[in-house]
Amino acid sequence: MATVRLENIKRRFNNVTAIEDITLDIPDGEFWVLVGPSGCGKSTILRTIAGLETATSGKLYIGEKLVNNIPARQRDVAMVFQNYALYPHMTVAQNIAFGLQMRKVDPKIIQERVMVVARSLSLEHLLERKPKQLSGGQQQRVALGRAIAREPQVFLLDEPLSNLDAQLRDDTRAELKQLHQELGITTIYVTHDQVEAMTLADKIVVLNRGRIQQIGAPNTIYSQPTNRMVATFLGSPPMNIVPAKFTGNGFDVMGQILSCPNSVKEKLRLGVGQNFDLGIRPEHISLVEPSRRREHPEEELSELTVEVKVVEPLGRETLVRTGFPGTSVILNVQISTEVLSKRGDRLSLEFNLDKLFVFDSSTGDKLYP
Ligand code: ATP
Repeated sequence: MATVRLENIKRRFNNVTAIEDITLDIPDGEFWVLVGPSGCGKSTILRTIAGLETATSGKLYIGEKLVNNIPARQRDVAMVFQNYALYPHMTVAQNIAFGLQMRKVDPKIIQERVMVVARSLSLEHLLERKPKQLSGGQQQRVALGRAIAREPQVFLLDEPLSNLDAQLRDDTRAELKQLHQELGITTIYVTHDQVEAMTLADKIVVLNRGRIQQIGAPNTIYSQPTNRMVATFLGSPPMNIVPAKFTGNGFDVMGQILSCPNSVKEKLRLGVGQNFDLGIRPEHISLVEPSRRREHPEEELSELTVEVKVVEPLGRETLVRTGFPGTSVILNVQISTEVLSKRGDRLSLEFNLDKLFVFDSSTGDKLYP
C-alpha cells in the first residue's frame, strides 16, 4: 500500500492538452474516484499513474518514490479496465495466478493466494472454467481477482463496471466497496457515473477539460459545489439551473419575482440589473398547496408558477418535470408524496432559499453562498 502524489502533471498529445496541471495527494489506503464528462482527462491521469502514458511535465510519486521514469511493470500497481482483457485460453485459476507466475512466486503460495482471492470474490466454484463460460459480472470479478492476487501497492480501475447490467453493477459496486474495506489498498477509480462516485469514494475529484474543478468528500461535493459544472454533474436529476436578473430585492425569473433572503441581497448588492444563474436541487423545491394560500394569504412565499410537463412516480417519491410557460427552461422537482397533477397543469412551487445557489452566468463560478 502506498500514497500517490501527482505534482503539476500535464499531458499533451501534439496540440491537444489532455490534462493540465493536475495536483493530487492521495493518502495511503484511501479510495479516490475521478469523475467528469467524456474527454475530461480521467483515463489519461490513470494511465499516467500506471506508466502507460508519460507525463509531459510534472512529478509523480508512488509512496516516497519518484516514478516518472520507472516502467509500468516496476511500479507495483494493478490496473483493471472496462473490457476485462482476460486470457481466453486460460482457466479462471490460471488467469488469477498469471501475474504471480510472471514474478516467479513459489507455486504453493500462488495456489494459496488464488484460493483466498477466489473466496473473497465468490469465484471458488468457477476456478476451472474458461472466460467464455462466465457471465460478464463473473469475468469482471476474475479481472479484479487477477489484480488483487498481485497485492499491488495501488489499484487503478478504469470504468470497471460499465459493461455490466444495472443489477450486476449495483451488486459488484457493493462488493468492490467491501473488498476495499477489507484490503485497504489505495484505489483510484475512474468513472463518469456519479452514483458510483458518490457511493464508493472517500474523496471525489471532479474534472472538466483536463482540469480539476473540485476535490472533496462525496457529501461536500454534493452540498457545497464550487461551480456550476460540479453542481450540475453530481446528482440525479441534476441541480436545476434557472437564469434570473437580480433586481436588488429579489430575482426576476422569466417575468416572475422570486424574493430572496438578505444574505443574498448583501452578497450581490453590486450586481443589481445583472443576469445570474440560480441553482436549486430538485429536492429543495416543494409544492404550495392551494389550501395554504387560502388559509394564510398574508404569508410571503418564495414561489414561482410553472407548468407540468411530465410526472414520473418513482415509488418512494415523484419526479415532476416542469417548465416556465413560454420558455424552454426546465425545472425538475422531487416530491415525497404522490402528485395528482398532469401535463399542462399550473403548479406553484416554493424554493427552500437556504439551499439556493447563485452562479456567475458566464463563468459558472459560485457567487452565493
Ligand atoms: P472518456 O470518459 O470518454 O473515456 P476521459 O475523461 O477518460 O474520457 P481521456 O481519454 O483521458 O478522457 O482523454 C482526454 C483528452 O485527451 C481527450 O480530448 C482525448 O481526445 C485526448 N487524447 C487522449 N489520448 C490521446 C492520444 N493518444 N492522442 C491524442 N489525443 C488523445
